[in-house]
Amino acid sequence: MPSNLITQAIPSAAPMARKSLQSRVVWGSRVVTVGGQAPVRVQSMTNTDTVDVIGTAIQVKELALAGSEMVRITVNTPEAAEAVPHIRDQLDKMGIDVPLIGDFHYNGHRLLSDHPACAEALSKYRINPGNVGKGEKHDIQFGQMIEAAMRWDKPIRIGVNWGSLDQELLAELMDQNSQRPTPWESRQVMYEALITSAITSANKAHEMGMVREQITLSCKVSGVQDLIAVYRELSKRTDYSLHLGLTEAGMGTKGTVASSTALSILLQEGIGDTIRVSLTPQPGESRTQEVVIASEILQSLGLRIFVPSVTACPGCGRTTSSTFQELAKQIDDFLRAQMPVWRSRYPGVENLKLAVMGCIVNGPGESKHADIGISLPGTGEAPAAPVFIDGEKKLTLRGDNIAQEFQVLVEQYIDNRFGATSKATT
Ligand code: SF4
Repeated sequence: MPSNLITQAIPSAAPMARKSLQSRVVWGSRVVTVGGQAPVRVQSMTNTDTVDVIGTAIQVKELALAGSEMVRITVNTPEAAEAVPHIRDQLDKMGIDVPLIGDFHYNGHRLLSDHPACAEALSKYRINPGNVGKGEKHDIQFGQMIEAAMRWDKPIRIGVNWGSLDQELLAELMDQNSQRPTPWESRQVMYEALITSAITSANKAHEMGMVREQITLSCKVSGVQDLIAVYRELSKRTDYSLHLGLTEAGMGTKGTVASSTALSILLQEGIGDTIRVSLTPQPGESRTQEVVIASEILQSLGLRIFVPSVTACPGCGRTTSSTFQELAKQIDDFLRAQMPVWRSRYPGVENLKLAVMGCIVNGPGESKHADIGISLPGTGEAPAAPVFIDGEKKLTLRGDNIAQEFQVLVEQYIDNRFGATSKATT
């Protein structure tokens, strides 16, 4: 198109901002803010038996080191409640100050009052209004949990889930719906029940004296379009901070894609102050995968930066050996494994951009755009891999140890660039 016909610059796409109240999740000197101007937080949940103090503490540590900023644990029995302060002690001894969130259903009111050490060791309580008792007991037991939260000065999440929706409320809304001249679809009544349950429960907590800032809401469903519909409406009706997640997302590719799709659409609209990816681990897969995916969603949207990014081409008929796939994976794994240490040793290292490319077509160009990049030889090309540093070709690697030598170059680059920053600022 002739340039004189272009009248306006194309606006860049950026996530919108939603104004929400900010809560503080605290353990010791560690304060994790949720909502308001705070970055969208990553959280996760253990799948160990909470009674297994060491096993749970180890998994919490793994999740925290992978980047989870809060970790939820099940508190379902008196024995689990007894274990919570010991898990906290173990974590403190290991230098892991990640706040723990207690997940309560059915008996949370009793556990919190019978086990004060548990109530104190947790940094936040998740309350499911669909699982706090029926009839008169519902309000009494819900009230007891709110009183415990206020007594111990803990924020709460009112976590509604369509698998455990308040059946009395749903029946009431269904009844009202049947009297409409044109009744809504049952799905829409369910949306309404989820949102009403969350907001009325939060308002009850506030009426009891809880400050609104300390209340976060969630309304989780397992369908992508359902989640989008519910959270769009929830975000319009309230300024409480929102915990966002697709419940029971499933395993593997399906769970990853469904969570990424649903969360990305809502996050782009400014909806969601903290996220969890509820992935069913594949046999033998680390629980930390849900943290990796949640972090990647936020990093892909440009909302947060957690780890250096590795640009790697997909490969094609020009890369008939697996060398470049192996190198790309090796570098990515290496960066992730180093991050827990590098975060404090090399401030700003998460902004690093690397490129691992498969051949000469896009390799040199993409590598020049990265801070450090390598263009591996494609099929039929000379067995040489030029390395680009800060946009310039600096050297060429040859032979069987290209991967190891490139890794050393990456480490040297990081130490020179970010180690110097660290030394200058300390
Ligand atoms: S850079 Fe080369 S190997 Fe990679 S996808 Fe492009 S053409 Fe294929």
